[in-house]
Amino acid sequence: MIRIGYGNDVHRLEVGRPLILGGVRIESDLGAVGHSDADALAHAVTDAILGALALGDIGAHFSDKDARWKNADSFVFLARAVEMMKEKGFALVNIDSTINLEKPNLRFYIDEMRKNLAEVLEIEIDSVSVKAKTGEGVDSVGEQKAVKVEAIVLLQTK
Ligand code: MG
Repeated sequence: MIRIGYGNDVHRLEVGRPLILGGVRIESDLGAVGHSDADALAHAVTDAILGALALGDIGAHFSDKDARWKNADSFVFLARAVEMMKEKGFALVNIDSTINLEKPNLRFYIDEMRKNLAEVLEIEIDSVSVKAKTGEGVDSVGEQKAVKVEAIVLLQTK
């Protein structure tokens, strides 16, 4: 059996916060605001996996009201979603994702994000796509108010 899953995530950007995407610390004047480490890529992929399994959303499993997840490494959420996926007898086929961020240019960070994701998702790096787009100066992304990520995953039974 195959299952498809979709996830997205938005975090506000502010001065004085770290910007972490796909487990990579990005050099940036603006960082993402969140209860955890605000890794929007990790959150979107987690939501996509949960979505493929019809297990609800990331907030249902890792509430932003829960003190345990304050400043948490979001790869903990991702690893837990992978565990749930395996418990249900599925493995990942591939993931595709797009980061919407006005700046900086993410080109030199992408492969490290892919490597980090491939490791936690237990798939080859060739099966992990991370793309990046700007907001062309308009809307919340273009005005540097937010980072937005969309992700889609395909699972299959082992
Ligand atoms: Mg989030």
